[in-house]
Amino acid sequence: MRIDIITVLPELIQSPLSHSILKRAQEKGLVEIYFHNLRDFATDKYKSVDDYSFGGGAGMVMKVEPVFRVIESLKSERNYDEIIYTSPDGIPFSQRLANELSSITNMIILCGHYKGVDQRIRDHLITREISIGDYVLSGGELAAAVITDAIVRIIPGVISDETSALTDSFQDNLLAPPVYTRPADYESLKVPDVLLSGNAKEIEKWRFEKSLERTRKLRPGLLEKNEDAE
Ligand code: SAH
Repeated sequence: MRIDIITVLPELIQSPLSHSILKRAQEKGLVEIYFHNLRDFATDKYKSVDDYSFGGGAGMVMKVEPVFRVIESLKSERNYDEIIYTSPDGIPFSQRLANELSSITNMIILCGHYKGVDQRIRDHLITREISIGDYVLSGGELAAAVITDAIVRIIPGVISDETSALTDSFQDNLLAPPVYTRPADYESLKVPDVLLSGNAKEIEKWRFEKSLERTRKLRPGLLEKNEDAE
């Protein structure tokens, strides 16, 4: 997979994508991530990427020219399956969407700033608009980092224990069960016996029950989604 991220602040997004699982995914060659500084594609001598809003009102708007230039230059080099714009009014990001996007080959993510981007960019270049939640961030970089992280960690081969990502919360509309590690007894705070029993069947059953219990208590709406799917 190849991900091209377009931003006015590359340094804001480079770090979260260069550690841990994301770092290993790139080292293994399973994903290539490129950052493009929008300012490098500005067309005027001041390298401006934003301008006043037509019709007045507070806040600057990201200009069409630099965004069209960078996206058209990328598109002339390869085909892109998705050109994503991070936006609070986009479709809500979810595990299901992450799963879907994890199987595509090339994608662009455009990070907005200020009041957002000129609507012509959204109308003519963008294939999907994604929100990471009902709140407003200062820029799209953190949203792009969240989306990229969630997509890349489930690309087959990225996490060495293949089943690990599949047992995380939301994969089956259930929250993950509680987890414990050594010591089995910390000042009388004990790990449930079943996990020490070595009985794989019993452990699986216990985990499933705990997942259900947790989901019922914390996110009952997810169980309704399961029923919808049946
Ligand atoms: N005026 C816009 C908000 C602009 S915030 C509005 O009211 O909808 C500046 C940029 O941050 C946006 O262009 C977008 O790229 C990013 N952003 C802010 N909140 C976001 C969210 N919840 N999800 C994804 N991107 C977000």
